[in-house]
Amino acid sequence: MKKWKPSIIIENSIKQNGRVTADVIEKTYDIKEHQMIRFMAEEFQRRIEVEVAMEKKQLILLMDEIRELQDVERKEQSNLVFKFRSLINILLSDCAKLQQRSLIWNDAANKVNEILDVPLLQCEPMTIEETHTFRMHPIYSEVYEIYLAYEELSPVLTETFRAFIQSLLKSPTLYEVWVLLKIIHYFSEWGLDAHEFVVDIQKKYKDSKSISGYKKQFRMENRPFDIGIYYDFTFDGSGYRPDFVIGFFEKENKQWSLHTLDAKYKCYSEMTKGEQTLLNDLKHSGTRYLNDLFGGELKVKSATLIHTDIKSLNWNVKEKQVNTENNQHTIAHFHFTPSESKNLQIYLKRLLHENSGLDHCCPKCGQFVEGTIQNTKEFQNKISRKILYNCSVCEEVWVANFCSSCSYHGRNMKLFYYNGYPKYLARQLYKYPTHNYNIQVGESWDVHCPNCYKTFDHKINYIVKHTVKNEPMIIRSF
Ligand SMILES: [Zn+2]
Ligand SMILES: [Zn+2]
Repeated sequence: MKKWKPSIIIENSIKQNGRVTADVIEKTYDIKEHQMIRFMAEEFQRRIEVEVAMEKKQLILLMDEIRELQDVERKEQSNLVFKFRSLINILLSDCAKLQQRSLIWNDAANKVNEILDVPLLQCEPMTIEETHTFRMHPIYSEVYEIYLAYEELSPVLTETFRAFIQSLLKSPTLYEVWVLLKIIHYFSEWGLDAHEFVVDIQKKYKDSKSISGYKKQFRMENRPFDIGIYYDFTFDGSGYRPDFVIGFFEKENKQWSLHTLDAKYKCYSEMTKGEQTLLNDLKHSGTRYLNDLFGGELKVKSATLIHTDIKSLNWNVKEKQVNTENNQHTIAHFHFTPSESKNLQIYLKRLLHENSGLDHCCPKCGQFVEGTIQNTKEFQNKISRKILYNCSVCEEVWVANFCSSCSYHGRNMKLFYYNGYPKYLARQLYKYPTHNYNIQVGESWDVHCPNCYKTFDHKINYIVKHTVKNEPMIIRSF
């Protein structure tokens, strides 16, 4: 299209050669606003992909849990069977919500793809800035407003936090910090204020360009305990620096139970001397901390290794070289990766109940649960009991049972005041509908005692195969 413009006419009058030149203006849609709109649509597309992948993973985890629950439901004879049904129903309704969301995502993805196919938007994307057209044009400004509203939905990263995340991505401690964030995430379900943590971390990073040495006691409202976390902190007495120390402070008796956790980005199964390396790591990150992290009187109650070898897991390492005093459930190792992620939750549940003795606290929501004592047996100075816990807030259920054989022989007993008299209480054995850390008994809601491997029917003896790498295996009973 050729246009006569005043400038051309004037120019022409000045020029003496008599030839008229005119600007050639082509009608084009390749304006920067379109490039920015393409950027917006591609951003939506990426976001949808990430959300869909995350929800798919969540759905698989829920389905696995349902299958596990259905299995125990089939085998259960007692009235607990109703409890399992209601847990299954809760999970089924969560699954239905996720499936419903996947339809909505699908719809959104189709719409975004249609937008990306529009001829106007066949251009290179460009980062967004406010332009005259975005401010003034009725339609363009509407598009721009929608994008601003979308951006408002995502949390704004402060400059400090952005810098922290960028430094992290290149850092060899990426796995450790990821584990730390996951621990905070699970603890937030027990009532920890995650926002408090983010504010702390920003401050720590701003002051020292690293988050090493972070420590904090989180006050937990309406829960029987507070949580303490040390990350990469050097302890004075020993000079040791575990990746994590996790502590539970029982408010009622003002006592701490402390545990260490070291992270190793290692796949032992693929190493030539994997088993030996694991053994050395367990001595270094287990035995050493258990014996004298603090020196003196205060003792760590459990020491665990978290790693990325999905073929290795042992919640109760008994190997003499590592567990010199043969204490049950004090040394362990487990795998945790983005695709195999249920063990961290099991670990935290185990710390709460098995290692800290807070078995009256719900492993899903952290609330106090008054257990129902089902049968108390007194024999000489010994006492044993079974307690059923049922959380009215989140419907979680768990049982603290005991091993008749160990109780009879007085193994692993705990001093306990009963009606004002000192007695010895049989060690509790914990059982959950899913995600257990004790060895399961195939056909009933029972577990093998971690000390003698017997089931509740204590007449049967078991031959057990031990390895450092994996959980003990029951190979024959007689
Ligand atoms: Zn609960
Ligand atoms: Zn036993």
